[in-house]
Amino acid sequence: MYASNVIAIAGNPNSGKTTAFNRYTGARQHVGNYPGITVEKKEGSAHLDGIEVTLVDLPGTYSLTAYSMEEVVARRVLAEEHPGAVIDVVNSGVLERNLYLSVQMLELGMPLVLALNMMDEARAQGVNINVERLEQLTGLTCVPTVARKGEGLDEALRAAVELAKKTGGRVDPIIISYGSDIDAALTEMVPLVNSAKLLTDRYPARWISMKFLERDKEIIGRAQKANPDVSAKLKAIADKVSAHLKTTLNTNPEAVIADYRYGWISSVLKNGVLEGADDILERTAFSDKLDKVLTNRVLGPVILLLVLYGMYYMTIQLGDYPLGWVETFFEWLSETVGSALGDGALNSLVTDGIIAGVGGVLGFVPLIMIMFLLIAILEDSGYMARVAYIMDRVFRLFGLHGASIMPFIIGGGIAGGCAVPGVMATRTLRSPKERLATILTVPFMTCGAKIPVFLLFVGIFFEGNKPLIMFMVTLGGWAAALLVALALRSTLIKGEPTPFVMELPPYRWPTFSGVVIHTWERTWQYIKKAGTVILAISILIWAAMTYPGLPDNLHHQFEDQREALVAQGGLSDEEMEEKTLAIDNAEEAASLENSFAGRLGRAIETITSPAGFDWRTNIALIGGIAAKEVVISTLGTAYSLGSVDEESTSLSDQIKADSHWTMANAVSLMVFTLLYSPCFVTLMVIKQETARWRWLFFSLFFDLALAYFMAVLAFQMLS
Ligand code: GDP
Ligand code: MG
Repeated sequence: MYASNVIAIAGNPNSGKTTAFNRYTGARQHVGNYPGITVEKKEGSAHLDGIEVTLVDLPGTYSLTAYSMEEVVARRVLAEEHPGAVIDVVNSGVLERNLYLSVQMLELGMPLVLALNMMDEARAQGVNINVERLEQLTGLTCVPTVARKGEGLDEALRAAVELAKKTGGRVDPIIISYGSDIDAALTEMVPLVNSAKLLTDRYPARWISMKFLERDKEIIGRAQKANPDVSAKLKAIADKVSAHLKTTLNTNPEAVIADYRYGWISSVLKNGVLEGADDILERTAFSDKLDKVLTNRVLGPVILLLVLYGMYYMTIQLGDYPLGWVETFFEWLSETVGSALGDGALNSLVTDGIIAGVGGVLGFVPLIMIMFLLIAILEDSGYMARVAYIMDRVFRLFGLHGASIMPFIIGGGIAGGCAVPGVMATRTLRSPKERLATILTVPFMTCGAKIPVFLLFVGIFFEGNKPLIMFMVTLGGWAAALLVALALRSTLIKGEPTPFVMELPPYRWPTFSGVVIHTWERTWQYIKKAGTVILAISILIWAAMTYPGLPDNLHHQFEDQREALVAQGGLSDEEMEEKTLAIDNAEEAASLENSFAGRLGRAIETITSPAGFDWRTNIALIGGIAAKEVVISTLGTAYSLGSVDEESTSLSDQIKADSHWTMANAVSLMVFTLLYSPCFVTLMVIKQETARWRWLFFSLFFDLALAYFMAVLAFQMLS
């Protein structure tokens, strides 16, 4: 029963609610109990600019969980008596703690006016609140008040009445990120709640889902009565996250959610609201001290770059040993299986198609694993959230949102991510234009599938500078994303930026098991993809590179050459063997060139030669649109098919031995791989998230053109 002329007064105990209420209502009030419970209910009326407004003084609470009767009452009144707006009375001296309740009311979708009460005391204590900045960041009307003297109260009430008229008593609930685990669960739960319309007449779907995660008995009980099936599903998801958080971080969803709510508040206050008053933030002194250094305007970005560089350094230094072992293993496997299978198409399929293709991708597992390990440490410790915070300043310059950072990082901004969840993570962006710009630029990041391409060529051509070059590739991805975003935001998707708040959860020591589990989860996904999607594509591409084989007349030409060799005679065994091998190799290479893939690769060679790509690279890059790992697996197959060496050698040795490859070709290919069209799955997700085919095609063709242009530029400059 929405009532536009009913305004609720909410706030922490002792924030001055009753004082304000009495000032507003004078003698026009009555005190009773809420029906059925002995929690005091005070209602009264006030006159403002000639209209009568009913005021409800809510019980004072710190939170809207169901731990106490007061909290249950407060949230029921908000959700069910549906006041037109809420005056949230906060104690300005302890803003951080008081805003915790405000955040929860925003999550509930309540239209709020913040009465920054006890301003007199706060000022006396030297607390200096930048009200304008607070309004900008939260989007709320904020009114400094001194309830005891009546200062600011009329203004607050007037703002509340206006807000009630404007909003009809409900606004879009605030969307906070609660970290990757909880966010992922919410993404799964919200559609369930929505499609079952589970209590959604009163509460936002995301809020209901959160109550399942917070194990809120009251809401869960009511949900179970309303729809036992869907509730059971929601509970199962919540239990899973709960168990996961327990094993990885030794915590629970309630605590994580609370951390991120405080993180949101802390980020607002540190963003120029409480200037020069960091000490006023009472919570987690340790985190705040650390943040003074790590998120410092000057030191922050410097440290961030050092951390990134250090990550590549360690990945590459530590990864060198296991990388060699894995390569040796696949060479051994290929020879062993190859000799067991005998000659024929099956042998070629297994060794050239499957082992060379999938093995090329799996070969990078040790490196990827080390990188994921380091990322897990950064994430679990809370540093990743700071990265976003630091980068926000930069982002605004390019027409993006501070919250665009998370999608970029998930998409591989610190290397090793994936654009698919990255694009999905843009859902936390509230401004549609900034969201679109983010979606279209996430695919430029160095995702886990592109990394092997960079590692391979950096390993071959930049022996002494591996970490530095890898680091520069990552920065290149960022530069491309930001510049394209800027271009888009000044042309196709123009519009004003929206204010932004980034959550800053407290720092924690990562737990050993947490880091191990997170590392393994990601590594396993990589391996699984190699064993399924990449395997299938490898087989297809192998077939495209094997058939239709050489036409008879060409085949006979090679036979004739062999016969001529035998007839010629007078050669030593060794010379004989060498010459035969040369003929065999030439035949294999001719056959590959004549294959379907080879012909296609050749056909576009005129277009790609300014970028330094030969037909083999062309095949690999076309395959890479299916999945970026395919670039490596296809090169692996192409080189393996194209030679019949007795000793099978690794792809990197073969490329080293091939005179086609110079540093210029390698850089050009790396640039192209970094920038060109997103993989198939990412394209589909872009279509899904933007609901427009237009943006799918934009990504496909614009990125391709950009990559081509940059690759040509790189190749021409270096060669
Ligand atoms: P409630 O628990 O939120 O209802 O808080 P009360 O209205 O009972 O106020 C708690 C105490 O704070 C009382 O002693 C009030 O006189 C005092 N108080 C309320 N507003 C102000 C204010 O703006 N400035 C100061 N200095 N004291 C206030
Ligand atoms: Mg009171």
